[in-house]
Amino acid sequence: MSFAGTIVPREHPPSQPGGLSAGDNFHRLTAVAFVRRDPANHRAIWSFRCECGVAIEVAASWVKSGNTKSCGCLNREKIRSSSLKHGNARGGRKTPEYLSWINMIQRCTNPLNTSYDRYGAVGISVCDRWRDSFENFLADMGPRPGPEYSIERSRGDGNYEPDNCHWATPTEQSRNRRNVIRVRLDGHEMSLSEACERLNIPRRRVYARLRLGWSAEDALKGGRR
Ligand SMILES: [Zn+2]
Repeated sequence: MSFAGTIVPREHPPSQPGGLSAGDNFHRLTAVAFVRRDPANHRAIWSFRCECGVAIEVAASWVKSGNTKSCGCLNREKIRSSSLKHGNARGGRKTPEYLSWINMIQRCTNPLNTSYDRYGAVGISVCDRWRDSFENFLADMGPRPGPEYSIERSRGDGNYEPDNCHWATPTEQSRNRRNVIRVRLDGHEMSLSEACERLNIPRRRVYARLRLGWSAEDALKGGRR
């Protein structure tokens, strides 16, 4: 058998940035189209349609690695079923650690949550490792030391993730809150986190600059690069 002299038609369109083609399927997501490069890390952002019908835009690499499997509906179902199945229950009652975990996810992801304005709405998020698994959260945080303790983020503008969280008492927390960085932007005072959001600069980048000794203003002026 020889193909000499014949043109073999492509069965698939050539793959595009991020190594995806429209129609590719990963878990609940189907690739729709390449959207743009993330200016922060050059990841290829694609639009996807979830089985449930919701459209999302997310880095192709996250979807290919299985980090993102759905629009979020899968996590919601998992949380529901895990809270029904085991719920880290002691004698049928949910443990304080479990309730902390649920509430943390709720205030970061559910616009109907009464605290969402101060968390999810200003860009505070829960890392994938914790959002997907109560067991991971408990392994990283350890048991709550006592009833007066709750989750504190070391950087008040930072996310819920292992290196930024620990159990703390209200006294410790209010002492730390005074250290939240405030900046002026267009004549308005706001938290550094909010300024990053408005300027569309990744918070991680700005905090990395602060650690290098930049002032908050310079860190913001440095833009996305
Ligand atoms: Zn979905």
